[in-house]
Amino acid sequence: MFHFDNCLKITAAHLSVDAQTGQQMGFVSHAHADHMAPHTLTLCTSVTARLLRHRFGSQLRVRELAYGEPFTIADHRLTVFPAGHMLGSAMLYLEYAGESLLYTGDFRLRRSATAEPAELPQADRLVMETTYGDPRYRFPPREQVVAELVHAVLGTLKAGRVPVIEAYVTGKAQELTRLLWEQGIRTQQHPAMASVSRLYQASGCELGPFSVYEGQHLPGHVILQPPSGQRRARRLPLPSGCIRMAVTGWALDPRYRFRHGVDYAFPLTDHADYDELIECVERVKPRKIYCTHGPAGFAERLKDIGFDAQPLKRTP
Ligand SMILES: [Zn+2]
Repeated sequence: MFHFDNCLKITAAHLSVDAQTGQQMGFVSHAHADHMAPHTLTLCTSVTARLLRHRFGSQLRVRELAYGEPFTIADHRLTVFPAGHMLGSAMLYLEYAGESLLYTGDFRLRRSATAEPAELPQADRLVMETTYGDPRYRFPPREQVVAELVHAVLGTLKAGRVPVIEAYVTGKAQELTRLLWEQGIRTQQHPAMASVSRLYQASGCELGPFSVYEGQHLPGHVILQPPSGQRRARRLPLPSGCIRMAVTGWALDPRYRFRHGVDYAFPLTDHADYDELIECVERVKPRKIYCTHGPAGFAERLKDIGFDAQPLKRTP
């Protein structure tokens, strides 16, 4: 039914899944750089199509897929389900010759402020993203983390300093904007984030009002700036004496804050944590599991609790 050759390939359908180089026909689960490329024909949700065209140009050929509405390619029945990772993110569910396969892409089971809630169909085979596949990564409730973030932001503003939150341009920046707005805090976004935020709003996702940061801080606002590793968005000069905050699942590592030179780090993420990964497996009830994007030991842990699991590698 499928094989692995730099990415997951649905063999008889000639469909590549989340390939990072251009293919004849590629499914793109969501609009993050490590899951997309300009394919000759792209299959994705309408929101992802909007974000991909923003990145690759309006001429991109896309077949738009709606959640829960099956379609057929070469006798394969394909259906997409919300992945809960970012707006428009999708899992791919495939039925072929009496067998079913679920590819999760990046996903999250806990509630998101901006993404559609994840849905998990049962499947014979499960190809799952396992970024936080270590028991060290169990995230506290989002309400608790947001309360700590808000406390730090308000304290910084009260002290006359400028809070700067580092966030990825697509997905994380929009979710933070919405979460902070719900708490009555206004944001100033990097221009690259603002253009993505407008696409979110055009897709019906309410973020609340935000301003664009072009080097001039507005009193009472939090500046959202891309992290240093994000090459496509040039970082802008920041006010002197600003307080830098990171928002990532890796913040659970006590060394994170020092390693990245930030004043605060909060474990808020758009990925499933360890317990959500286990919950995913228990709900999908697969006979066989293939793990990607995570620690090598996660497949062993699944085996310890009775599942047939292995890392996804060349031609499983
Ligand atoms: Zn992602």
